[in-house]
Amino acid sequence: LVKLTGIRKRFGRNEVLHGVDLEVDRGEVLCLIGASGSGKSTLLRCINHLESPDAGRVIVGGEHIGYHERHGRRHEMPERLVRAQRAGIGMVFQHFNLFPHLTVLQNITEAPQRVLGMNASEANATAHDLLSRVGLADKASAFPKSLSGGQQQRVAIARGLAMRPQLMLFDEPTSALDPELVGEVLDVMRGLAADGMTMIVVTHEMGFAREVANQVAFMHQGRIVEQGPPSQVLGSPTHERTRGFLSKVL
Ligand code: ATP
Ligand code: MG
Repeated sequence: LVKLTGIRKRFGRNEVLHGVDLEVDRGEVLCLIGASGSGKSTLLRCINHLESPDAGRVIVGGEHIGYHERHGRRHEMPERLVRAQRAGIGMVFQHFNLFPHLTVLQNITEAPQRVLGMNASEANATAHDLLSRVGLADKASAFPKSLSGGQQQRVAIARGLAMRPQLMLFDEPTSALDPELVGEVLDVMRGLAADGMTMIVVTHEMGFAREVANQVAFMHQGRIVEQGPPSQVLGSPTHERTRGFLSKVL
């Protein structure tokens, strides 16, 4: 479903991705781990073209993201088309970024109505279904600030799902939460994985990675230096950098 080849990205003179290749099959969960500054967020943002890669290709569901290729040359896509592509890729951030002036329900129905042209009753019905799925059926008319961090993050996940994405990206979705709230968010993500959602998850939750991921990729200084099933990458890593990282986080 997802194929990245040779992704490079620089900020000014600082190249932070040095040619990343990555493939994720439909229904797979890939956990991306690595030290702070290794390029995990930048890579995730290249997938939905929140960052435009300087070189390389991002293909999701058979479509080049952000570029047309014609006669072997890349042409930047108009922003309107990039936005349409991005709509099919859900993203959940560390900070939930809910709209504070909208209710939980309105947070979830806004984009499907505006972007997908869904009518209000269909959008509301979908939102209620999704709220049940994330365990918040009773919070539809609450405002975000009245919710705990874990509840807000579950709303953010429901909001992403409302766009019927073929792929969900998570960037440290539990890092900003109090420890006792981490589990409820991971449970929702576990459920998504079990339902067959394709997910790329940047996380420091090694228990989640071990249990849920089909693949774990370890990033070091803008490269994926080791990748494989969790039992191998987390259990018997071959790369010295992976061993060093794991000895600090496990
Ligand atoms: P963390 O675990 O702390 O979130 P990360 O692995 O997600 O780290 P990135 O956020 O991708 O790392 O950053 C990789 C490098 O790119 C860092 O050196 C960072 O300073 C740099 N960087 C990221 N975004 C920008 C930007 N918009 N402008 C300039 N430099 C940036
Ligand atoms: Mg990051």
